[in-house]
Amino acid sequence: MTRFDYLIVGGGMTADAAAHGIRERDGKGSIGIVSADQHSPYNRPPLTKGLWKGDEPDSIWRKTEETGAELLRGRRVTSLDPGARKLTDDAGTSYEYGSLLLATGGQPRRLEGAPEGVVYFRTLDDYRRVHDLSDRGSTFAVIGGGFIGSEIAAALRMQGRDVTMLVREQGIGTKVFPGDLARWLVEYYREKGVTMALGKSLERIEHRDGRYTVYAGKEQLVADAVIAGLGIEPDVALARGAGLTVSDGIDVDEQLRTSRPEIYAAGDVANFFNPALGQRIRVEHEDNANTMGAVAGRNMAGAGERYDHLPFFYSDLFDLGYEAVGQVDARLQTVADWKEQFREGVVYYLEAGRVRGVLLWNVWNQVDAARALIAEKGPFRPEQLKGRLPTG
Ligand SMILES: Cc1cc2nc3c(=O)[nH]c(=O)nc-3n(C[C@H](O)[C@H](O)[C@H](O)COP(=O)(O)OP(=O)(O)OC[C@H]3O[C@@H](n4cnc5c(N)ncnc54)[C@H](O)[C@@H]3O)c2cc1C
Repeated sequence: MTRFDYLIVGGGMTADAAAHGIRERDGKGSIGIVSADQHSPYNRPPLTKGLWKGDEPDSIWRKTEETGAELLRGRRVTSLDPGARKLTDDAGTSYEYGSLLLATGGQPRRLEGAPEGVVYFRTLDDYRRVHDLSDRGSTFAVIGGGFIGSEIAAALRMQGRDVTMLVREQGIGTKVFPGDLARWLVEYYREKGVTMALGKSLERIEHRDGRYTVYAGKEQLVADAVIAGLGIEPDVALARGAGLTVSDGIDVDEQLRTSRPEIYAAGDVANFFNPALGQRIRVEHEDNANTMGAVAGRNMAGAGERYDHLPFFYSDLFDLGYEAVGQVDARLQTVADWKEQFREGVVYYLEAGRVRGVLLWNVWNQVDAARALIAEKGPFRPEQLKGRLPTG
């Protein structure tokens, strides 16, 4: 049995940030990271962006080794006994801990009955596989118009690949963007050479003679490879099995403790209360993984910090880019303030006159100003928001 003062389950960005957070306060305590991944922690955002634009492959690695943590890779933790403060992995190895962090992230949603070989894009190995297929000139069907689908479709098209996107809705990013922007993005993708199949629900996928046929209504798409971006399910199995409180993710308090105070959770898997929004949220983005991971690490080492950060996120779609803060949810009332329509401007998301989220579309360095606006109680009338933040 190995004992660590600090044990982290999961080997993603949150785990790495936590190990660094622990070291900010405790230079000596032993840190163990048990990760199902075969690789050391790496940044995921470049897998659909920078690495396709010439960033060095080695630029993705986090510097986890600098923390002195012992990284136990390729091991999935299968049971957690909070009473005994003990974990066991799939190789039968057991570990004891002083405090524990669950940074288990999420698993991509899969298509029921789909053949082997469909890529549910999330990992470095997925990137390497798709890159290799792209180098061989493959054609691609991309299923889903959310973050992963829209980014990987753009990345592949920028390599000159033949890409068809199959999207159930009538736009790209319909959960996030106002309807007119989501629909305009479809035309923008078409101009860039992506074939768009909209309003089609996937029925089945067949794999024959090395090619895939995707059936959706009367549509039949044939491609060498299929990539699905259908979102993730938080990986709560371990927490649930251990009797921790789980809702949409693992519930944590303001100091990121679960229902067992010596067990923390952070990153994509954690459900936390955000004071600026006045509600519990779960966030699947980089800034949250980094900031929350670091706070969890410091708290494991006794800092007692509150996590009251309102995370931002970002994405790149061909030559467009954006940052967004708060509840960027297309179901809310939206007020757009364009400097140039759909090219540069700010979209405000309102609920009962309060700004809940801000989309900064090709507008930079305004994330903190957007956070301050969300913290204001208002109420705001739509016309009061025009010009509130610089539009470019
Ligand atoms: C391709 C891609 C592009 C992205 N681009 C952006 C972007 O542009 N902007 C942005 O803000 N965000 C982006 N994100 C989101 C961001 O990368 C995630 O929010 C972040 O990676 C979450 O980190 P995490 O460590 O919480 O979870 P994960 O990255 O899911 O890591 C969890 C780790 O835990 C391991 N694990 C799970 N269960 C166990 C277990 N029982 N035992 C051992 N190990 C286990 C998993 O194998 C995994 O390695 C992107 C994500 C992806 C996949």
